[in-house]
Amino acid sequence: MKPARFAYFQPDSVDEAVACLRENGGEARVLAGGQSLLVLMNRRQIRPTALVDLKRVRGLDYLVRDGEGLRIGALTRHIDIENADDPQIRTAFGVLPESARLIGHLPIRTRGTFGGSIAYADPRAEWCLLAVLLDAEVVVVSEDGSRTVPAKDFFTGAHQSAARWDEIVAEVRFPHPAPNAALVEFGIQQGDLPVVAASAAVDLDARGRIASARIALGGVADRPVRANGAEKAAVGSVPDGRLLDHLAQLASKELDPPADPRTDGHDRKELATVLVARALRASIARGATAGTGATPRTGATPGTSATAGTGRQADHQKAEDR
Ligand SMILES: Cc1cc2nc3c(=O)[nH]c(=O)nc-3n(C[C@H](O)[C@H](O)[C@H](O)COP(=O)(O)OP(=O)(O)OC[C@H]3O[C@@H](n4cnc5c(N)ncnc54)[C@H](O)[C@@H]3O)c2cc1C
Repeated sequence: MKPARFAYFQPDSVDEAVACLRENGGEARVLAGGQSLLVLMNRRQIRPTALVDLKRVRGLDYLVRDGEGLRIGALTRHIDIENADDPQIRTAFGVLPESARLIGHLPIRTRGTFGGSIAYADPRAEWCLLAVLLDAEVVVVSEDGSRTVPAKDFFTGAHQSAARWDEIVAEVRFPHPAPNAALVEFGIQQGDLPVVAASAAVDLDARGRIASARIALGGVADRPVRANGAEKAAVGSVPDGRLLDHLAQLASKELDPPADPRTDGHDRKELATVLVARALRASIARGATAGTGATPRTGATPGTSATAGTGRQADHQKAEDR
């Protein structure tokens, strides 16, 4: 099927883009990589009256260090994050290039944008999950100026966000390095969004106890969620295998995933338990390898790599090695 008729605009700047959105009212849509929007339009699930294509807009395509943090421009493609070659970004934010590899297929990663994924606010999307895990901030711009929204408040429901119809997502800021962060996920089919994804960033103190733990899950609610109870319970404990399994159980206990056409809520709760345990192990293993303070104590059974252990990751590697 073809999309319904729409007006088409190609602004050259952010200012022109936001002016164009405002002029065309709430039925206009921003077009970035088109990997989600055009699918919906072709199926006539949505019928925007106008598209504001960001293709010609300069200055929103970057991945730059900012002090100890990182800023990513909205028009940065998934593939550019996957291929980021700055060694400091690879060390401090290695989870980003690794997770980029999990997104769709190569053509999707070549066209789809970081900001498009954030704006689309799919509760299973890797970038939305990591934005919540790593306490990122989303910068949105309109004719009235710019404002910054913490990622935890930005995602307000499935495909719903705090961005208004006349705003564009311009940038996402990751304020602190996360050398130990890890993401694991389970998907039914290679190239699809995951069913459930879990991510963790664990830091240990000098005595090998957990100084801080961040745990976030995707695909278990209408937006990515943090496992606050498990995060609190982790602090001060020795991260052995039994503790990590206990924390995973706690994280999953906090969830009440709705059924979807392919899985029921109970399945996804069980998946969440397994994936949180793996994400915690992967984060701790990563810290041990990098010497950043996450050294597992006796009894811990860390995974072999930060994204190890999911069928989905293995499938991606197989497919791309061919
Ligand atoms: C087969 C398939 C598999 C996929 N697998 C995955 C996956 O595994 N993981 C994953 O995360 N995603 C996956 N995706 C989605 C893909 O990553 C998209 O690229 C992404 O969700 C949207 O980015 P885009 O640049 O293509 O945005 P578009 O499709 O152009 O736009 C998406 C939505 O966001 C809005 N928008 C876009 N950019 C902005 C902006 N800067 N400011 C305000 N609003 C904006 C648009 O108006 C639209 O509503 C998959 C898609 C397909 C088709």
